[in-house]
Amino acid sequence: MQQSCKHALVFYPRFIRTFDDLPGYTSVLIHAWNGCNMRCHGCHNYDELIAKRPVDYLTAEQVIHRLQSGGALFDAVLLSGGEFLINALPEITAFLTGLRTVFDGPVVVFTNGTYPDKLQRLLDGGLIDGVHLDMKLPYHCLDPEDDRDIYEAVLGIAPSARYCRDILDSVELVIAHNSRLSQVRTVRYPMLDQPYFDQIRSYVDALNDQYGSDVPYYLNPYVAHH
Ligand code: SF4
Repeated sequence: MQQSCKHALVFYPRFIRTFDDLPGYTSVLIHAWNGCNMRCHGCHNYDELIAKRPVDYLTAEQVIHRLQSGGALFDAVLLSGGEFLINALPEITAFLTGLRTVFDGPVVVFTNGTYPDKLQRLLDGGLIDGVHLDMKLPYHCLDPEDDRDIYEAVLGIAPSARYCRDILDSVELVIAHNSRLSQVRTVRYPMLDQPYFDQIRSYVDALNDQYGSDVPYYLNPYVAHH
């Protein structure tokens, strides 16, 4: 069910200016157009960025060029998808390195957490300044076999134990890194009861305590996609 990366790193041509994704910044939100390895309930990006094959896309070089020309209009760059980290690490690294040469503000990646090794390399290399990580379920409390129906209802896939472990590893990485630009967040999916959200929050709180970190946690409303 997982979608592999069939294209070079490419981007959706419409950039979005946003004032609330990164508090205190006017950000430009850029979507990679390489698909996603989840099929979440109500995904707002599914029709345009996952189901639709890339047409009239921008290459990494074109994105960098466009950002270089529009410098005064934003002071942070947010990289989303689909799943931005589904792409090959050398391509991601080359893109972010090029981005650093034309833009010296914060660069933040949005991720579903399934690529902790890539995340670690980007954080260790100083190529990104923060991570917004979606922790959609209390993976630490669920069993991929016994709770398969819950996974399929929320993520649209039946994950392996490794897949869930990877997401938890990413949460820990982000909290250990402790950037003021990072956050862990959850959508309040309508099919989940309050204890699911309480368990996620407790997990994040415990990691913040363990690392002496203060990465914020947000439980965001579910907004139906029409
Ligand atoms: S991880 Fe994000 S982009 Fe991927 S299917 Fe889920 S909501 Fe959509």
